[in-house]
Amino acid sequence: MIRAVPRYQQSVINYDFAGRVALVTGGGSGIGAACAQVFAGSGARVVVADRDLDAAKKVAAGLPGDTLTLDVDVSDPVAVDRMVDQTLGRFEQLDIAVNNAGISGSRLPVGEETPDDWRRVVSVNLDGVFHCTAAEVRAMRRLGGGAIVNMASILGAVGFPNAGAYVAAKHGVVGLTQNTALEYAPEGIRVNAVGPGFIQTPLIESAMTEETRAALVALHPLGRLGRPEEVAHLVAWLSSDAASFVTGAYYPVDGGYLAR
Ligand code: NAP
Repeated sequence: MIRAVPRYQQSVINYDFAGRVALVTGGGSGIGAACAQVFAGSGARVVVADRDLDAAKKVAAGLPGDTLTLDVDVSDPVAVDRMVDQTLGRFEQLDIAVNNAGISGSRLPVGEETPDDWRRVVSVNLDGVFHCTAAEVRAMRRLGGGAIVNMASILGAVGFPNAGAYVAAKHGVVGLTQNTALEYAPEGIRVNAVGPGFIQTPLIESAMTEETRAALVALHPLGRLGRPEEVAHLVAWLSSDAASFVTGAYYPVDGGYLAR
């Protein structure tokens, strides 16, 4: 008898993060909020950091366990240092950090991209990951190790017309991830990057028509866009002891986008 292969269903996978502290930037929405939910649901104390403090508070209010919400602009290194200090001030620990905050850019080819838009995108999507990583590794090496996950994109591996600043920043995130992994492996800090395909979040939903949605769906062999929790589960695995031999890696979670 041939059994039908079950399709994806909303499932709950629990990790054991009891006793751990997890910091998520951009935790007020989309993928970051899903990461905060998976960590908190698996026993971690979670710091939800976002430039939209109200959104961060709403997410934290729905989480089990002890949480802290912080207002941060990741493109500001002073604010990022303060975020890590406030995390340590409250929990005296930082075991897991997910550098997830990001924005989309203009939809123009490189020759028409303005320097201001380039800087705006790179300052959040690449400089922001650098500022966070730097502050986090300084804390984690004092504390004896940790796990960092940087939110790249499939566009950290391939190009996408009219998204030059975003693509360049995400490629930079993958390189920064590899370098940080090499530099801090001896100190017990693992650093990995994930590459989501197109995921249903406010970041992309806001600018989508039925036509663009259909065109994006067609780029994913699984025939749909991803869900934030499908990215969060990869982030959780990379942050967990199950991934204790994984560092400097880039993992797509993309419905087959990069396999085409
Ligand atoms: P989202 O729903 O827009 O959530 C991103 C959150 O980060 C928002 O709350 C946003 O606040 C916040 N944020 C933006 N800039 C910030 C800054 N400078 N400092 C602190 N917080 C900031 O987006 P998402 O889709 O979940 O994206 C999360 C990450 O995944 C991003 O790095 C994105 O590039 C990456 N990604 C997304 C997709 C996708 O298809 N959705 C695919 C691949 C990779 P505001 O609302 O105020 O901007």
